[in-house]
Amino acid sequence: MLHQSVRFNQQHTDFYFDASFRQLKQMLKPANTFIITDTNIFPLHTTYFKGWKTIVIPAGEAHKNIATVQYIIEQLIQLQADRTATLVGVGGGVVTDITGFVAAIYMRGVAFGFVPTTLLAMVDASIGGKNGIDIGLYKNLMGTIRQPAFLLYDTHFLKTLPDAEWQNGFAEIIKHACIKNAAMFRNLEKLSPALLKKNKQKLNELIQKNVQLKMLVVKADEFEKGERKLLNLGHTLGHAIENQYSLSHGHAVAIGIHYAAILSQQILGFKQPERISALLTQYGLPTHFVFDTKKVMNMLQMDKKRQQEFVHYILIEKIGKGIILPIPLKDLEKIYKII
Ligand code: ADP
Ligand code: ZN
Repeated sequence: MLHQSVRFNQQHTDFYFDASFRQLKQMLKPANTFIITDTNIFPLHTTYFKGWKTIVIPAGEAHKNIATVQYIIEQLIQLQADRTATLVGVGGGVVTDITGFVAAIYMRGVAFGFVPTTLLAMVDASIGGKNGIDIGLYKNLMGTIRQPAFLLYDTHFLKTLPDAEWQNGFAEIIKHACIKNAAMFRNLEKLSPALLKKNKQKLNELIQKNVQLKMLVVKADEFEKGERKLLNLGHTLGHAIENQYSLSHGHAVAIGIHYAAILSQQILGFKQPERISALLTQYGLPTHFVFDTKKVMNMLQMDKKRQQEFVHYILIEKIGKGIILPIPLKDLEKIYKII
C-alpha cells in the first residue's frame, strides 16, 4: 500500500493506493462509521461489508436525486449518526457524489471518505471534492465542493466491473492524457483494455498517475476559476448528448473529445485528430454521432460553463496540452452543423 497526503486550502486528503478494503478497520471505528453503497455492489462483495453499518441505495444515475438523499438521511437518523460520524461511500460516481453531498448537509456537515469501485470513480468522479445530485435532466445542478478525508483504492472491486463501466473510465483517462500528459497518451497507445485487466501492476500505476494528474489540476484551482476547466474536455458537448440521447457517460465524453479535436483542427490548426480517434477506438469507445444541433444548443444554454453568449470550450493545442477558448454560441452552432 502507498500512502500519500495532499493538502488543500482548508484540509488534507489521504490517499491509500494499492490498498485493501479491510484496512478500513484500522482507520475507522465501525460504531461511528456509516457505509453507503448500492444494490449492485452490496451483493457482489457482501463479505467486505460484514461488521459495518451499511446503507444500500438503488444503483444508477436515475437515483442520484433528492429522494435518495432523503432516504439516506432517514437511515442515518435511524442508525443514530451524530455530528462525529464518518460517512464512507463505497461505489461508483453516483455513490461517491451523493455520499459527499449528504456528508456536506447532514447536521450541517460530517466527515466523509471514499472507496471508489469503478475505474471512472477511481480516476475521476471521487477526486476533487465536487459532489451533488441531478435535478431532472440537469446533471449535478445541486451540490457543494468539499474534499473527502481519505480515498482508499482496492482494485479487487474491479474484478466484477462490467465492460461498459471500464469504457467510462478509459474515456476520462484518455481525456487526462490529451490535456496534460503526452507520455501517458503514448503509453496508452502501447497498452489495451485486455492487457490492463490482466496486469494489476500496470493498472495500479495507470490509476495512480491519473489520480495524481487530476489532483494537481484540482489543487491548483479548487474552485474552478481557470485551470480546472481543462478537465471539461469532451464534456460540454458530452453532457448535452448524454442527456438527450441516453448515452453512457464514457461514450458521450469520447464523442465530445472527438468533436473537440476536430474543432481544434479548424480553430487552432491542431494536427493529430486522427491519433485521438484511433486511441478512443482502441479502448472500445465511439467517436462519431449524429445529433440534433438545435436540441444540443438548447442544452448548452443551461451549461454551467456558459458565460453570457460564450461557451468556455476546451480545445487541444497538441497532444498533452489542452487550452480554454471562449467560443460564441452562434459560431459553435455553425461549426457543429458542418462537422
Ligand atoms: P460511475 O460510472 O460514475 O462510476 P455508477 O455509480 O452509476 O457510476 O456506477 C456504474 C454502475 O456500475 C452502477 O450500476 C454500479 O452499481 C455498478 N458498479 C459499481 N462498482 C461496481 C463493481 N465493482 N462491480 C460491479 N458493478 C459495479
Ligand atoms: Zn466525466
